[in-house]
Amino acid sequence: MAAELHPLCARCTKIVCYPTIMASEVPSLTEAPPFCPMKLFPGLIDKAIMEYDKAEVKEFARLASVQEFQCYERTEEGLRAKLPRIEELVQFADKCGYHKLGIAFCLGLRNEAGILTDILENKGFDVISVCCKSGATAKERIGIKPEQKIGGADSWESMCNPIVQAEILNAEAVDLAVMLGLCIGHDTLLIKYCRVPMTVLAVKDRVTGHNPLAALYLSQSPYYRRLLRKRGKTGA
Ligand code: SF4
Repeated sequence: MAAELHPLCARCTKIVCYPTIMASEVPSLTEAPPFCPMKLFPGLIDKAIMEYDKAEVKEFARLASVQEFQCYERTEEGLRAKLPRIEELVQFADKCGYHKLGIAFCLGLRNEAGILTDILENKGFDVISVCCKSGATAKERIGIKPEQKIGGADSWESMCNPIVQAEILNAEAVDLAVMLGLCIGHDTLLIKYCRVPMTVLAVKDRVTGHNPLAALYLSQSPYYRRLLRKRGKTGA
């Protein structure tokens, strides 16, 4: 029996979803691999695309694509990217007419949160911020054992509290929540509980300066080769 197919865009070499054709032409699926989601889910894709018929959704998507366009410039040497994410954030918030921004940050990035606040205030936004430790709730509340506390078994340790962060940003009705450096899992809960529009400036990566892709880029070097090693195998 043939194995069930699932989308595997990351393994695709055809990329017929982004063809090099004229605007007047129609993309063809002929060369698409069997695992292409456009072959596996045509009805779902049609239905999902209909969401953009909602005026508010369409306008938001349009502004996001305009922002994407504005991140490039054509030079004699070709297309060049020109904006760091923080400037994109400012420009996109302007485009959307947002005034009140709410930063949900990790205590470990409080310096960065202060700088981000300065930047956004200097660009004219009203900025509020909520630290991950808000609530001052002991880690024991979620079942953490003494030996699982980072600072030692006898120390008080406030849990990270992304649900509190999300609910405060919801209550403050910020136009846009900005996630800054939350830990893995805590970020998942923030995303789950945020009911205001939310974007991510940075995720937590303690050893790469919060640049998780650095480890991927080094995965073929001796330093992070272990990432590509199959589980259970030893050696470089
Ligand atoms: S959508 Fe289809 S063509 Fe595009 S990357 Fe995925 S598998 Fe390839």
